[in-house]
Amino acid sequence: MAIKTVKDINVSGKRCFVRCDFNVPLDNGVITDPNRIVAALPTIKYLVENKAKVILTSHLGRPKGQKLAEFSLAPVAAALAEKLGQPVTFVDDCVGDKVNAAVAAMKDGDVVLLENVRFYKGEEKNDPELSKQFAAIADVFVNDAFGTAHRAHSSTAGIAEFIKGDKVSGFLIEKELEFLGDKTANPDRPFTVILGGAKVSDKITVIDALLEKADTILIGGAMAYTFAIAQGAKVGSSMNEPDKKETALSALSKAKAKGVQFLLPVDHVITDKLDFAGKAVGELKVVEGDIPDGWMGIDIGPKTVKLYQDAITSSKTVLWNGPMGVFEIKACAVGTFAVAKAVAEGDACSIIGGGDSVKAIKKSGYSDKVTFMSTGGGASLEFLEGKVLPGVDVLDRK
Ligand code: ADP
Ligand code: MG
Repeated sequence: MAIKTVKDINVSGKRCFVRCDFNVPLDNGVITDPNRIVAALPTIKYLVENKAKVILTSHLGRPKGQKLAEFSLAPVAAALAEKLGQPVTFVDDCVGDKVNAAVAAMKDGDVVLLENVRFYKGEEKNDPELSKQFAAIADVFVNDAFGTAHRAHSSTAGIAEFIKGDKVSGFLIEKELEFLGDKTANPDRPFTVILGGAKVSDKITVIDALLEKADTILIGGAMAYTFAIAQGAKVGSSMNEPDKKETALSALSKAKAKGVQFLLPVDHVITDKLDFAGKAVGELKVVEGDIPDGWMGIDIGPKTVKLYQDAITSSKTVLWNGPMGVFEIKACAVGTFAVAKAVAEGDACSIIGGGDSVKAIKKSGYSDKVTFMSTGGGASLEFLEGKVLPGVDVLDRK
C-alpha cells in the first residue's frame, strides 16, 4: 500500500521532525559534495512554503555516541541556509534544553537544524528514551532519509511510535519507493536487470527476488566467475566463491523454469596483474571460455558488451545494480561505461541502485541521462531484495 507523503497531510503550523540524510563528505570541515543537501531541498521548501515549523535532523559519519567536532552538522547548516535562501538556526545538540528552547521560539516557516543524532548512543540502539525525546518536540514525523531507512534507529523509526500526529515520507523517499518499488514491480516490458559487482553472496537474494520480475538478467562483474566455475569453466585467479556454486546453479535453473533469459559473459578482459590501490593493471587480453592460470577477469569483453547493449536497447525498463568490472581502474572500466552508454541512450526507464553502481555511472559521464539513481546504497539493495525497510514501515499508509 502506498505511503503517505507530506502532500497528503496538513503541515501548517505543525512542528515537523524531518529526518534527512545530510551525511555529506567533509574534508577539514568543508563539504566536498553537496548533493545530499541539494536532494533534500524540495521537501524542505515544500514544508517552508506550507508554513510548517521545520526541524531538520540527520546523522553524519560514525561518531559512535560521542560528541566529536569533526562529525558536527554545523557546516551543513551554513550550506543549507545559502541554498534555501533563508536562515537556518543550528542547535549544537539534538535533544535537551537548547533544543526545546530553539523549537519553542520557532515561527511558522522557520528552519532549525539539530546536531548529529549519532552523538547519542541511543540513536543506533533505537533507544525508546531517545525516541521519546525526539517525539516530544514535534507533531509530525517526516522521513526523507532513504539511505538509513533500512536501519531501525531512534530518528528513523523509533520516534514514530511516540509521535501523536502524522508520520509521512518526504519527496526523496517517495521517489525511491516509486522507482525501486512500483516501477520494478509493475515494469513496462521487456524488463532487463543488469547485475554485477563483486560477490554472488552479496547479491543472491536480489537475484532471487528479481527472477520473479525480470524478462532478462545480464550478469557481469566478478559474480560472473562464480557462475562460470559452477558450469565447469576455469577462471584462473579471478575473484570467485567456490562455496556459492550450488547457489549459482539454482539461480540458473530457476531462470530456466521461469522463462527468464539469463545471460552470462561470453568473453572476458583478463590481466596478469592487478594493483587496486595503485590503480594499475598488467598486460590485458580478451579471452572466450576458460581463463588461464595466473590471469584474472577484470571486465566483460567486447562481444559481451555488444550482446548486453542489444538487450538493453530493446528494453522498456532497465534496472542496474553492480558494475561490470573493476571500474575504479580506467583500463577495466570499458565494459561498465559501455553498458552505461547503452542504458543512457536507450528509451527505457532506467533505474540505478547500489552505491558503487551510482559511482560508476557518475564516472561514466552518463548519469544525467538515466531516469533515476537511488540515493541509498545498502537500503536500495535491501529494498530490491524485498525486505521491509523499518524507516518506511513505520509511516502511515494512504
Ligand atoms: P554496488 O555497491 O553497486 O551494489 P558491489 O559493491 O556489489 O556494487 O560491487 C562493486 C565492486 O565490485 C567494485 O568495487 C568493483 O571493483 C568490484 N568488481 C567488479 N568486477 C570485478 C572483478 N571482475 N574482479 C574484482 N572485483 C570486481
Ligand atoms: Mg558496493
